[in-house]
Amino acid sequence: MTVKKSIEIPVKEASMFDAVISRLSEASKIYGLAEEADTILRHPQKEIKVSLPIMMDDGKMHVFEGYRTIHSTVLGPSKGGIRYGLDVNEEEVKALAAWMSFKCAIANIPYGGAKGGITCDPRKLSIGELERLTRAYAVALSDVFGVDHDIPAPDMGTSSREMAWILDAYNKVYRSDFPGVVTGKPVGLGGSLGREAATGRGIMIATLAALNKMNLKPKKVTAAVQGFGNVGSHSVRLLSEQGVKICAIGDHTETIWNEKGIDIAAALKYAKDNNGILQGFKGGVKIKSDELLTAEVDVLVPAALQNVITTNIAKDVKAKLIVEGANGPTVPDADPILNNKGIVVVPDVLANGGGVTVSYFEWVQNKYGHYWTEEEVNEKHDKSMNAAFENIWNNAQQYKTSLRIGAYITALKRLEMGIKAKGHY
Ligand code: NAD
Repeated sequence: MTVKKSIEIPVKEASMFDAVISRLSEASKIYGLAEEADTILRHPQKEIKVSLPIMMDDGKMHVFEGYRTIHSTVLGPSKGGIRYGLDVNEEEVKALAAWMSFKCAIANIPYGGAKGGITCDPRKLSIGELERLTRAYAVALSDVFGVDHDIPAPDMGTSSREMAWILDAYNKVYRSDFPGVVTGKPVGLGGSLGREAATGRGIMIATLAALNKMNLKPKKVTAAVQGFGNVGSHSVRLLSEQGVKICAIGDHTETIWNEKGIDIAAALKYAKDNNGILQGFKGGVKIKSDELLTAEVDVLVPAALQNVITTNIAKDVKAKLIVEGANGPTVPDADPILNNKGIVVVPDVLANGGGVTVSYFEWVQNKYGHYWTEEEVNEKHDKSMNAAFENIWNNAQQYKTSLRIGAYITALKRLEMGIKAKGHY
């Protein structure tokens, strides 16, 4: 007699793109999205992978992998940042590209969604290696990028410095001067005033809007912010300027708790003088990174990594309000746990949309060759973020759902309109 061996079916770990599809499916069902739009939005329009051979400082050749995914161009040219990190991969870039399509639709700006990245550890590369890598990536994708085609911007691991290299490499290929081919570039090269702080500013405006709906006063609430890079540091600064007491901050090197409130000016100065990191900052007691997420505060802003609010963490979250600065910080299975606990979650696709909104303003200014003051940029930004917040709030109420699904419904309505109006083959 032969004994049948039981076959172990490997359990596929949920990818970030699965997280996109899970929320898309829920919103599509509640809203009743047209089948054609539902089908189209589950697939990115174009996925590109490039090999980037770089001569390293030690004289050895190393080949890096770079990606660019365009999820949708239904509502305009595709827009999305470029991420450098060891974890960057095709699935992650695909998810981030789809989120950009939803984010631009929610912010009501005429863009589609894209994202790019290079698998590398930017902290371990010299400036020369980073510059060669960035230029190689820009040249490899120069037929994809374009002012009216696909417009990159900074994301995790990149900044205005990399955008200046991309701008220069692209313009050398075309022997021309297209300042609008990237956003988030230095102000002297056509960057917009207010762009650097824009994502943090959006977090601050979205937090104030949510607190207002919850009848809470900014001066009476405490907050914890994970991440002290572009998004985290500006969020912390702008929230504390509104009177919010910041009791926990942290980055990949250090996490600090201070019940009396952290001296934010001192933390910002410390990081500025210390290569952008908090390691060694003495403004409170040291805690673990996860403890920040479950700290005894009113507002939690995850502004570093994806997938940090797991089901286990969600069970222990004490904040009344979560404002998602990072992309995808909450795993889909944690959503119902947070909802059942009555925690208001302002989702990433709205909360961190300030960056792409001011990127759009930068692109408009580049097209016109006429530049606005920081006050003008901030005023337009705040108006746009408040309108987007109100819109997702109303959709959440109308469809009796969470703000996250309300936000997806807002995006789906606009994308569906575009798909129907444009028609197809
Ligand atoms: P950044 O590279 O400027 O900063 C990232 C921060 O995260 C750093 O402080 C780093 O130390 C911290 N970090 C990394 N690993 C950590 C860990 N294990 N624990 C705690 N902190 C850790 O990146 P950024 O531009 O601020 O982006 C942060 C998030 O915001 C990303 O999800 C990004 O996609 C999203 N986002 C950024 C923008 C933008 O305009 N920069 C716009 C929208 C969304």
